[in-house]
Amino acid sequence: MSNVINGIQGWLFSPSEVAAANRDGHMLTLDYELGDTCPLECVYCFRYFDSRDNNGVAAKKKPLLDGAQWHSVVDQAAELGVRSIKLIGGGEITQEKDFIPCLEYIAQHNIIVVLFTSGTVLGNDELCRHLHGVDGRQLATWLHEKVGASVFIKMDALDRNLQDEIVGRPGYAVVRDRAFQLLMDVGFNKHMPTRLGLEVNVGRRNLHEIMDIYALRTKCKVYEDVVVSMPCDSYYRHTDYDITLKQKRELYERIYAFNKQHGIPFEHISPFMGGLECSQLGNGLYVTNRGDVYHCPGAFERLGSVKTAPLRSIWSRFTQARQYSSHYFCPFREQTGILPTPLIQELERELVGTRGSGGASGSADNPASASASE
Ligand code: SF4
Repeated sequence: MSNVINGIQGWLFSPSEVAAANRDGHMLTLDYELGDTCPLECVYCFRYFDSRDNNGVAAKKKPLLDGAQWHSVVDQAAELGVRSIKLIGGGEITQEKDFIPCLEYIAQHNIIVVLFTSGTVLGNDELCRHLHGVDGRQLATWLHEKVGASVFIKMDALDRNLQDEIVGRPGYAVVRDRAFQLLMDVGFNKHMPTRLGLEVNVGRRNLHEIMDIYALRTKCKVYEDVVVSMPCDSYYRHTDYDITLKQKRELYERIYAFNKQHGIPFEHISPFMGGLECSQLGNGLYVTNRGDVYHCPGAFERLGSVKTAPLRSIWSRFTQARQYSSHYFCPFREQTGILPTPLIQELERELVGTRGSGGASGSADNPASASASE
């Protein structure tokens, strides 16, 4: 029996927690945003050009949530029973001037913060002091000790030149590596389950590095969120970025062979290769920095806006429909052919040995995890 936990704190719920939340109409996890600026230009970024922000009017974005609206969403999430808030964007959150008070506010509600960051502030003492009055190590320690956060840091390439190329910013990878080291130094990866994750976006340019990055799961005791493209605007703008279906199949096979070799448990294959199954669609929502509500970052069907309706009413409407209550895979990638259903079913049969009937076309329901962010 493996004693490895395949997940990260704040993004892993037991089947009984999920069942209780579903029974009581609670939301388990919320994907949320703070701010909208970022110093990087990652080619795969689902928020860099996002038509969801534009109200149908090119170049005219809807206004951001103001402070009171932003805090109210946290209050409402707490009332709905939310256990974790994944701060996933809409830019580099750590560079927001309200970053510290906003995270304190979430923590005061006993909600786990799962922070996604490029590390551009954490790894740069001068910038960190300028923005928050503390250096990178102090900020990392505060996140670890006071907020109790889990942190994902970007890791598309170990080769620094390649990483800089992917994010469009020379010198970035040195700063990222320092931030990663700081997070390990203060102990984020010394928990069970770990509180340190790597966000890995797979494309043609970094495909050859993915298994080396994946090996950090056991070497550094981190969780990894390894994903191919999402069907967002940038996917259709950069059609040469995504890898082929053959390459996806081979990568799945290699990653799950690694899991088997190292005792990393799994019950189904996942859109987060090797990692948690996605049950975001039955257990959470995504609220953008402009207040729009979607099932998750890969969904384009707008469910409402927190500017005009309480989160509870949007959630109740959705939970009554139970449109996505039985998925462990990603219907949006399946429907768009990024990870077509027949491929997923074949991989599920080959790597797990089940009928391979889950995902968009099936009903396999494993609620052992509630996941979201890309
Ligand atoms: S993996 Fe899950 S959270 Fe991500 S886009 Fe697909 S359904 Fe949404």
